[in-house]
Amino acid sequence: MSTLNNDTLVIAIDGPSGSGKSSVSKAVARELGAVYLDTGAMYRAITYSVLDAGTDLTDAHAIAQAVRDAQLQISVDPDAELVKIGGVDVTQAIREPRISEQVSAVATNLDARAELVRRQQEIIKANTRIVAEGRDITTVVAPDADARILLTASEEARLRRRGLQLGGSQNDSQLANQVLARDAKDSTVVNFTQAADGVMTVDSSDLDFEQTIAAVLDAINTATKN
Ligand code: C5P
Repeated sequence: MSTLNNDTLVIAIDGPSGSGKSSVSKAVARELGAVYLDTGAMYRAITYSVLDAGTDLTDAHAIAQAVRDAQLQISVDPDAELVKIGGVDVTQAIREPRISEQVSAVATNLDARAELVRRQQEIIKANTRIVAEGRDITTVVAPDADARILLTASEEARLRRRGLQLGGSQNDSQLANQVLARDAKDSTVVNFTQAADGVMTVDSSDLDFEQTIAAVLDAINTATKN
């Protein structure tokens, strides 16, 4: 594929929760010999840390300050997930449902977003070949990326995938709260349901994992051909 020969490569992938963007983005990064940035993990780590500190989640100023002060470390190796905040390994803890349920308090804080976007742009700049995924990568973090993709899936497919990921530990309403209510809150500050100009849409509703990877690689190839 032509993208393998490029020296620098920035791939931006956005999508709602349950669209498969994390596992697909990791696989795409491996295929392209690129590193991988999970920006959602950064929002999750901050949420873990403000909850741990007992910060009032309605105190926007305190949350913004916590982000500015955060010592955040994130691995960009697609085969070695590691997230640390204040030196504490929170790789597993940030996946807990309580984090998913509260993360919008950080994600909807515009000062917190500005600081996290700044840090994400620094990470992208520091790496030659990178696949970055999140909600605002195609539009805010890396609008000049070589390829910009919105990975979507029907509501039904997204709920099914998240349910499987959580191993049936959540009942239907908990699951809907985590997936749909979270996306609805997030949508108030970022648009990740409709592709912005120049962003290609890949709908994974009827595709299996391998087919989705192939469709995303195809879109990248098309975007980088010109
Ligand atoms: O992708 P993931 O589900 O781990 O993201 C967790 C949360 O982080 C999202 O629900 C959203 O609130 C926030 N997020 C964001 N912008 C990004 C990535 C994630 O607001 N670029």
